Amino acid sequence: MVVRITGFIALLLTGFSSLTAQQPKIDFEQYEPASTLVVPANPRTKAVYPFIDVHNHQYRMGSGNLESLVTEMDRLNLKVMVNLSGGNGDGLKQMVANARTQYPGRFIIFANLNFTGIGTAGWIENTVKQLEADVRNGANGLKIFKNLGFSVNDAAGKRVTIDDPRLDPVWAKCGELKIPVLIHTADPEPFWDELDNDNERLLELYTHPRRKRSAADPAPWETLIGEQHRMFKKHPGTTFIAAHFGWYANDLGKLDSLLLAMPNVMIEFGAVIAELGRQPRAAAAFFNKHQDRILFGKDSWVPSEYATYFRVLETSDEYFPYHKKYHAFWRMYGMGLPDAILKKVYFKNALRIIPGIDRSLFPE
Ligand SMILES: [Zn+2]
Repeated sequence: MVVRITGFIALLLTGFSSLTAQQPKIDFEQYEPASTLVVPANPRTKAVYPFIDVHNHQYRMGSGNLESLVTEMDRLNLKVMVNLSGGNGDGLKQMVANARTQYPGRFIIFANLNFTGIGTAGWIENTVKQLEADVRNGANGLKIFKNLGFSVNDAAGKRVTIDDPRLDPVWAKCGELKIPVLIHTADPEPFWDELDNDNERLLELYTHPRRKRSAADPAPWETLIGEQHRMFKKHPGTTFIAAHFGWYANDLGKLDSLLLAMPNVMIEFGAVIAELGRQPRAAAAFFNKHQDRILFGKDSWVPSEYATYFRVLETSDEYFPYHKKYHAFWRMYGMGLPDAILKKVYFKNALRIIPGIDRSLFPE
């Protein structure tokens, strides 16, 4: 992907007074000089332990052959994939049946809610009943997408907040059924900020302009995140997994205080490994302190990108590339986590909170 931000890089380059007018301008995406740094390199294409990816999306798992998917999983040492896009009703039933028939034990399916009609008579009763049926049919968790908070409106056309009390019976039911709720709320905070040279996500907003948000579209970032935290606190008997480190991977001090205040919350690092890879010492200390609260998540299914995750978690490598410049134009450093913590992050924590995973697939 090449994006032209000539003005941006031109600004950087013209800071050097020795540059003459004849020197070509180069855009930021293209400027990728080969590093002259010589240090030990331990690239990883396969995780050192079998692992559970708790944040994946496979939309067509209900039919068709899963062999090529499992072949790619095996190459990564991905033993159990949690497919968060299970839907509900018959679609979910089919997905569970297809996965269990072809590859028993290799897939866990989470259900999703249908928000259509929220606020009308009977909606919550039917929704809770549907969730119970979905769990009977093989769902092992509930996934809430970011549309809750962004675009779900009630029958009166009003935005349904994440902590809307009309949803309380759903969260309570998940606690009762002992299934976790993985929830993605909002997006990275810079999506709400000005589109200027101070914005760390400028490249992403240029390449994905629809991701831009504002205080009125639909609400300030702090409002959405605050709604999520109030909901977590209101349901201490339910286990929540805050997707993408709750968008606080770039502020681990804040995330630390949130985890201490909300013992029912787990976190996963899908799409935010670049935040950890730029602060390996602080991140390793955080993983040490919260080693029972962190799960392995990736989100988008691009098998080659897992290598960055393994390398940041497992090695002490320095200054190695990330796989998407619009997420991170900086280099990565490994945390060099000890085996005992790697095992918790790769599988032990997920085994503890997600029901129905075959323990015998994993080492001690
Ligand atoms: Zn996702």
